[in-house]
Amino acid sequence: MAKKKRQGHYCKICGEWKANEKFTGKGHAAHICKSCDALPQEKKNELQILNRLANIAGKYPRSKADWELLRKYANDTKYPEIKEFAQLVLSGNRPLVEPDDDNFFDGADIDCIPVFPEKKKFAELDNYEKMLLKDYIYSEIVEYREYSGKAMNENNLIELKKRMISVFEEECNISLKNDATLKQFFQANATNIINKLQKKTEDSQ
Ligand SMILES: [Zn+2]
Repeated sequence: MAKKKRQGHYCKICGEWKANEKFTGKGHAAHICKSCDALPQEKKNELQILNRLANIAGKYPRSKADWELLRKYANDTKYPEIKEFAQLVLSGNRPLVEPDDDNFFDGADIDCIPVFPEKKKFAELDNYEKMLLKDYIYSEIVEYREYSGKAMNENNLIELKKRMISVFEEECNISLKNDATLKQFFQANATNIINKLQKKTEDSQ
C-alpha cells in the first residue's frame, strides 16, 4: 500500500480523502463529499456498500459482522456488481479491481481506501493531525462546560482522552499510541482550555 499523506476528510461514499472545501458543512459530519452528495440516492447507496465491502476485503481478521455483511451481499440481487464483488471476497480471492475498466472506481484512488488503522506515535503526526486533536479536545471541553456548567474533572479528562483516541482512529484511520508525549499534549491543552474558560466566566461575572 502506497503511503499517502491523509489530509482533509474521509468520504464514506467514494472512500476518498478529500480537502475540507470538498465538503459542505453538513457533508462534513455525514462524511459525504460534495460530488458524491450530488449523486442520486440509489447510486450513493450502491457506492457506499461497495466501499464498505472493499474495506472488509482487505481486513484480517474479519469480525462476525463483516462476514455476515459479505454473505448478505453475495446473495443480494439488487446490485449485481456488488454481488459479484462480495462473492469474490468470500471465495478467498482478494478482488483485483482495475481502476480503468471498473467504472465503480472511476476517479478513486485504490490506495486511498483505508484498510488497517496505521499505528502512530503522537510525535509522528503532522500539524494538521495535531490540530484535529486540539480541536476535538477544545470542543468537548466547551460542550461539557455549556452542558453541565462545570469544568471537567480528572475522571472526565481520562475518559475524554480515551474517546479522543478512538474517534481519531475512526476518523483518520490512525491508531494513536497512548504514550507520554500524547499525555503531555493532552494535559497541556486541556488545562489551558479549562483555565481560559474559567477566566472568561470570572470576567463576565
Ligand atoms: Zn465522495
